[in-house]
Amino acid sequence: MIFKIITLGCKLNFAESSALGKVLSDKGHRRAKNGEIADVVIVNTCTVTDTADKKDRQAIHRIKRENPGAQIIMTGCYAALLKDKVHANETLTAPHQAILQEIDKLIPKNREKFYHAYSRDDRTRCFLKVQDGCNYFCTYCTIPMARGRSRNPHICELTDQAQKALQEGAKEIVLTGVNIGDFGRSTGETFLDLLRALDTICWYEGAQLVQPDYRIRISSCEPNLLSDEIIDFVAHSHHFAPHFHIPLQSGSNEVLKIMHRRYTRELFQERVEHIKRVMPHAFIGVDCMVGVRGETQEDWDDYYHFIASLPVSQLHVFTYSERAHTRMLDMDLYVVPLAERERRSQVLHALSEQKLQQFYREHQGETATVLWESKKVRSTENGTTRDIMYGFTENYIKVSGPYDKFKINHFESVTIA
Ligand code: SF4
Repeated sequence: MIFKIITLGCKLNFAESSALGKVLSDKGHRRAKNGEIADVVIVNTCTVTDTADKKDRQAIHRIKRENPGAQIIMTGCYAALLKDKVHANETLTAPHQAILQEIDKLIPKNREKFYHAYSRDDRTRCFLKVQDGCNYFCTYCTIPMARGRSRNPHICELTDQAQKALQEGAKEIVLTGVNIGDFGRSTGETFLDLLRALDTICWYEGAQLVQPDYRIRISSCEPNLLSDEIIDFVAHSHHFAPHFHIPLQSGSNEVLKIMHRRYTRELFQERVEHIKRVMPHAFIGVDCMVGVRGETQEDWDDYYHFIASLPVSQLHVFTYSERAHTRMLDMDLYVVPLAERERRSQVLHALSEQKLQQFYREHQGETATVLWESKKVRSTENGTTRDIMYGFTENYIKVSGPYDKFKINHFESVTIA
């Protein structure tokens, strides 16, 4: 069988798609080549916003057009909420029926079980799933309904997977999950225990102790779970990158209460200041939602001034959209007009760009270590065309350099231009 996997959404979905692709390849099925029509297309969907739902539907239409006759299987968060995971049409042939049943067994469906996943698609980076589900039930969010309650495997299983990824050549591991700071709920361990264990991966080859050169990034951690102890650990660790991604969602305490978030903006500010105190060069990305119900003009002004005043490096902006089955819809709140939601989103996008450029400027001329990636890009500058490649420094500054295939997946010390 020739298959294709189309992945939408977050790094967790990428890790899970990769795990599924690996199982199918191990069973003798083949991934479709570029432009080849597949027998089966698996679409791993996302439902984080209304726009994500729209993208899922558009992807299904496009895939149907591009793969006439293919069986299309939907999985992931959007499919879970539709409670309609397998979209098979009536013209299934018997062999396809058997394959679909086989694939259906491989697709994560039990929302109490932890399904291991790590992506192996990129030669440089590996996304390691360390946790799934969420117990927080923020009033705007559908993810706990799609992914179930918070759960995780034992640390030893994850260190085994990380070691395998490093032995296969990965140089950077990104820890992914839905609410990864909540790690340990099902095993009695803690997130900090996990970080400590992942910071000391080594193995023997014969009598030789191998201590690999690698980096770890924490994809995202709720501010109430990102303790000072964790921040201090990252600052003094061997392998953790000075790179944080923290969801703020709103800079107004009133709105945070409506959202049922578990922190105040003062706590968020303390976390950011603590990071900058112990790692002044750290990159801090922040998730910001705009236009949620109850976000009055006064709240918005308060929110904007708060986030503008913080030494963060980039904002990931999400525009609120009404989601069925969320508690926010049952609350009697001011509804922000759609045009105003869009305006607030544009304001934060512009602020994000300013902050990113400022962060880059602050680090110009410094020496950093870049991990070069495999993509070759043709670039024309001042009338000269050349092939270039990209990589990221430990504090997530994107740098480019002349393409050199021998540098792919290698660390190099560079001066940031
Ligand atoms: S922490 Fe809140 S926003 Fe994040 S997945 Fe859980 S319920 Fe959704």
